[in-house]
Amino acid sequence: KGERLRLPPWLKTEIPIGKNYNRLKNTLRDLNLHTVCEEARCPNIGECWGGGEYATATATIMLMGDTCTRGCRFCSVKTARQPPPLDPDEPYNTAKAIAAWGLDYVVLTSVDRDDIADGGAEHFAKTVTNLKERNPQILVECLTPDFRGDLTAVEKIALSGLDVYAHNVETVRELQRHVRDPRANFDQSLSVLKHAKKVKPTVLTKTSIMLGLGETDQQIINTMTELREAEVDCLTLGQYMQPTKRHLKVEEYVTPERFAHWEKVGSDMGFTYTASGPLVRSSYKAGEKDS
Ligand code: SF4
Ligand code: SF4
Repeated sequence: KGERLRLPPWLKTEIPIGKNYNRLKNTLRDLNLHTVCEEARCPNIGECWGGGEYATATATIMLMGDTCTRGCRFCSVKTARQPPPLDPDEPYNTAKAIAAWGLDYVVLTSVDRDDIADGGAEHFAKTVTNLKERNPQILVECLTPDFRGDLTAVEKIALSGLDVYAHNVETVRELQRHVRDPRANFDQSLSVLKHAKKVKPTVLTKTSIMLGLGETDQQIINTMTELREAEVDCLTLGQYMQPTKRHLKVEEYVTPERFAHWEKVGSDMGFTYTASGPLVRSSYKAGEKDS
């Protein structure tokens, strides 16, 4: 338990800006959308929003407000027992705004709303349905809470017309209690992913693990094995970054070579898509696996 680790050179990045980026950024202001990309000051924004000549433009939109009922030790989102009520017009307005925004791929995510009976599942599902009605071409990924293991909630979203069902296990099985809110756990998250696949086998399931929290190689392998056994299709691995001094410390900066190793392990294990790198986030280049 010493000082904080120094930031290694591969994490000091310049943000590349594509021309699509400026176009998306300019139109965003009027649409009243909250993107994780901007709010989390994600280092990949130039690439995700910019796309390239052949790449797809991706963004991550937050539903259900900016205040979470949980308090995970790695996350900088604010917490309250009783956040403001949901905006009943949000599913319609958000869908309309996203459809107008010009994305190829959108990730819809939310805070956890343990204060609402269905955790906001209906709200989520309505947003997808409205969006797909307006723009059937856009690929939609939902990155959802665990709904405290309420599989009816999971089912509502899995059957809403989305293309990818994502839910993050965040870390290896052994570090769940250390890293996540006590209401979350590995088996509950696994049951969410399994259930989405069961009710809609054509939907791709996806999860994400942060590295650098003190996990061992064997724990990573075991976790990946369990995810494959649960028929999870896509996996992303990225470096944990400490958002403020009050959050969990980084135990290790995993090298790019090591991340490349885990990407190879992932494809050898049979994941349809594994993205692994220091700056990889769960929604990083999310559209590219489908192209
Ligand atoms: Fe946005 Fe995710 Fe891309 Fe970051 S990685 S810019 S949060 S879509
Ligand atoms: Fe952050 Fe999600 Fe945990 Fe809420 S549930 S504190 S949004 S990681």
